[in-house]
Amino acid sequence: MQAKYVVKEKNAFRCQLCPHLCLLRTGSTGICAVRKADDEGVISLNYGRISSVQVDPVEKKPLARFMPGTWTYSVGSYGCNLGCPFCQNYHIAKEIPITRKMTPKEVVANAMKQGLPSISFTYNEPIVSFEFVLETAKLAKENDLSTIMVTNGYINREPLQELLPVIDAMNIDLKSFREESYRQICGGSLKPVMKTIEESVENCHVEVTTLLVTGLHTNNELQEMIKWLASISRDIPLHISRYFPHYQYHEPPTPVEKVIEIGEMASKSLNYVYTGNI
Ligand code: SF4
Repeated sequence: MQAKYVVKEKNAFRCQLCPHLCLLRTGSTGICAVRKADDEGVISLNYGRISSVQVDPVEKKPLARFMPGTWTYSVGSYGCNLGCPFCQNYHIAKEIPITRKMTPKEVVANAMKQGLPSISFTYNEPIVSFEFVLETAKLAKENDLSTIMVTNGYINREPLQELLPVIDAMNIDLKSFREESYRQICGGSLKPVMKTIEESVENCHVEVTTLLVTGLHTNNELQEMIKWLASISRDIPLHISRYFPHYQYHEPPTPVEKVIEIGEMASKSLNYVYTGNI
């Protein structure tokens, strides 16, 4: 499948899907490892390659205030455009897992056959499956299904604008409120994620998740983050999630008291705060 948001630059192709703006020469892949240049353009290597299919409660995405009490047909592929060392899903984000082939039609038909009201693009980063997510979400909307994305929000404005009309709800990760942390630890940057949150709030239901990683945040930083979210809307639900060691990050789990403390701090500025994994 030819990838969208690609422009030719001399002997190479520039992928403009996410802020990395990878310059790809024939045979090379981008930072996400799932978009590869050939002589004609860039192809999406993970199009229709499904690593996980499950029916989950929508609260597990997590979405606390969107279609509560319902179940959602959840699909994931592989690949990610960030490189967080504490990734909770690194086996599909940073490795190539066993996959099965599915078409957008099959995903939608399966959800409908099971009488489910929504489809979720989740588990790995759906932005790096842009073409598949877009096509499936369009088809889902034509069949009156709701659509959900669980995402890191690291996407450029134009593709986000193309996606938003067919996405009903998002849970967006806000990993930190410091540019240095995004750059040094996750290999991305904070500003584009803030922009994604601001724009998405205008167009669909948005909830935000912050994984409270041991040693990553200061209370001041978290306070600034909460204030910023509240300045957009006090009604944005915030999920404060407890970290456990995973992948390449070996600090001990976040103390439960810390999760509760930050949850209480957030509740002073936001109307809907949820603590998770405790
Ligand atoms: S989507 Fe992948 S190839 Fe495209 S800019 Fe982002 S990391 Fe690079």
